[in-house]
Amino acid sequence: MQFKTKVIHAAQQADISTGSVVTPLHLTSTYRQEEVGIHKGFEYSRTGNPTRKVLENCLAELESGNFGLAFASGMAAEHAVISTLSPGDHIVACGDMYGGTYRLFEEVFKPLGMKFSYVGWEAGEFEQAVKKNTKLFWIESPTNPLIRLIDIRAVSDIAKRNQIKLVMDNTFATPTFQQPLLMGADLVVHSATKYIGGHSDLIGGALVVNDEDWYNKLKFLQNSVGAIPGAFDSWLMLRGIKTLAIRMKQHAENALEIATFLEDHPVVSEVYYPGLNTSPYYELANRQMTGFGGMVSFKLKDGNLETANRFFKKLKIITLAESLGGIESLINYPAVMTHGSIPEKQRMEIGITNDLIRLSVGIEDAGDLIDDLSGALS
Ligand SMILES: *Cc1c(COP(=O)(O)O)cnc(C)c1O
Repeated sequence: MQFKTKVIHAAQQADISTGSVVTPLHLTSTYRQEEVGIHKGFEYSRTGNPTRKVLENCLAELESGNFGLAFASGMAAEHAVISTLSPGDHIVACGDMYGGTYRLFEEVFKPLGMKFSYVGWEAGEFEQAVKKNTKLFWIESPTNPLIRLIDIRAVSDIAKRNQIKLVMDNTFATPTFQQPLLMGADLVVHSATKYIGGHSDLIGGALVVNDEDWYNKLKFLQNSVGAIPGAFDSWLMLRGIKTLAIRMKQHAENALEIATFLEDHPVVSEVYYPGLNTSPYYELANRQMTGFGGMVSFKLKDGNLETANRFFKKLKIITLAESLGGIESLINYPAVMTHGSIPEKQRMEIGITNDLIRLSVGIEDAGDLIDDLSGALS
């Protein structure tokens, strides 16, 4: 089945009991048992809910993996992954990543005894950071907010040589454009709040994993900790997924047009988009992705908080807000907004400077978006 067909049909057969074409919304906390312990596979909705189960199976198929798990948020999903490790275990992560992930590592898990090292985005740096107690590599690609790419196959080769598991946050590319499990990753993380949900109307997270033992540990944690999405949010995610392929295509088309426009603009000093043939990641993007995604970052000449605010105020369609991946275009000032939780020194080292702006390109008309940007930049 091709991806465009999968998003609509994977794990989503018509309901057996009613014929309902759309997966029913099972708003129930509990399930009747015929006899003690005899039931139809569901006992209590923290443990399992039929709507959530369809979502989890669908996510696994979309990522070409064996097992899917849905969570109340991307952070809850990430929390479950690190919770499968023990105090003293070492994780090597790419430095340029979601600010909340950095905060989770440094402020939640480091005090519990887990060890973290941060490297750049070159595969070789991961090899150099390996220690005897290294259990996980954690990467994002494209990264947030500088849209850098990491060579997934190269990092996966290093991981395998050293018997380390590779975790990949696939929020930005989505399985539409990138299939990390087929390139050697062991586990995929999503903030389903973003492109998976796709409509800026929910918070959700997901994991897809191949190894059954690891899945069982994660499933145990999902049930024991209870950070599950409700049935309605699960249903909304399934609804969002139906248009994932077609949305991603439009996000990417619009993003390329906008990146090309920004690259030629006199007040823009730099544009970060792997789909530009001037990008240092253009070749790698063509090797490991089937589309360049909808995220574009750029720097304003002599930009700072004040000039950024002046620019944001003049925008009429594009909205200043955190988050990304929805159908509407959102713009963000990473240094204070999404990445404000990273200490300044480290932020500067990564390149999240005060002239940086991140744009989540929506699926509006590209010409309207360019007019909006053009008017606000003048
Ligand atoms: C938003 C985001 C997260 C966190 O997910 P939530 O759903 O907000 O908890 C993790 N990784 C990336 C890349 C994100 O963009």
